[in-house]
Amino acid sequence: GQTEREERQEGRIVVFVRLRPISKKEKEAGSRSCVRIVNRKEVYLTEFASENDYLRLKRVRGRHFCFDAAFPDSTGQEEVYATTTAALVERVLQGQNGTVFCYGATGAGKTYTMLGTTDNPGVMVLAIKDLFVKIRQRSLDGAHSVSLSYLEVYNETVRDLLSPGRPLVLREDKQGIVAAGLTQYRAFSTDEVMRLLQQGNQNRTTEPTRVNETSSRSHAILQVVAEYKVEDPATNSILTRVGKLSLIDLAGSERALATDQRSLRSIEGANINRSLLALSSCINALVEGKKHIPYRNSKLTQLLKDSLGGACNTVMIANVSPSNLVFGDTQNTLHWADRAK
Ligand code: ADP
Ligand code: MG
Repeated sequence: GQTEREERQEGRIVVFVRLRPISKKEKEAGSRSCVRIVNRKEVYLTEFASENDYLRLKRVRGRHFCFDAAFPDSTGQEEVYATTTAALVERVLQGQNGTVFCYGATGAGKTYTMLGTTDNPGVMVLAIKDLFVKIRQRSLDGAHSVSLSYLEVYNETVRDLLSPGRPLVLREDKQGIVAAGLTQYRAFSTDEVMRLLQQGNQNRTTEPTRVNETSSRSHAILQVVAEYKVEDPATNSILTRVGKLSLIDLAGSERALATDQRSLRSIEGANINRSLLALSSCINALVEGKKHIPYRNSKLTQLLKDSLGGACNTVMIANVSPSNLVFGDTQNTLHWADRAK
């Protein structure tokens, strides 16, 4: 039944895969698709030696994976939101915390999935929209608040994307770990949110050599805190419910993946993303049911200490490109996602 299923979900990481459409540029460059999604949950990764083999479906190597759900390239933003995040928004309204990550190589579709475009808003915007609708229906006295903070972890430095400036210091207080001075934006409508997040995204760090492109090493973290009053039917008293939803557009995974086995020292030497690696360690520890979760190893994991594991609800969306030119990245992403289940 339903409760049994919910119990099984408790503490588990729910893993989804989203395949993006092949781009015009990739097609023109002669790139073929090496990913196929079947039955909305099976992913077939196949490599072909030549165009001829591709046409005859003669495989060189391949692998098959199975996830909670896998989205073919025709899947729209609303469906991705409804399948991956809507249930989590519901739990946030019950006063729990939850986290959604987009993981994958640069160009795989993480930012499209999280932020999206004005015409096709992504999970961040759709989640806030849904929160507004539901909170208005349920709030006892109409008094409720939805506040947003949007921050970046780049090179182990935390910055406020809504009010760019000096790096923020992380402090531990009664509520957990907080970034001192971080802007808490009180949102009143969904219309303003897309604009706000797009502006915030423009404040993300860019690589010095490619000033117009967001750095593939930057993590963007949106934290939404929803608060409202409900009547407790058991005692007839009034309760305040507070829940926090964290939505995270992770750095590109391409450089972190091959290095899982290395020591921290050689990782830093190779300029590998420390926060991404520390997140992997925390997720592995959670999946293995360990008591000690190594949150302290990076800025990203410190910020997520109260939003990962335990009674928190964690969703991972692994983004992949169909192009055979990035076969290795896609294989690594699928392996990583497979281990997070
Ligand atoms: P990432 O953030 O992982 O580096 P992006 O989200 O920027 O990747 O996606 C790379 C390109 O592919 C962008 O131009 C984006 O608009 C496009 N794209 C990604 N996913 C989709 C999708 N599901 N549908 C249409 N276009 C997409
Ligand atoms: Mg991006």
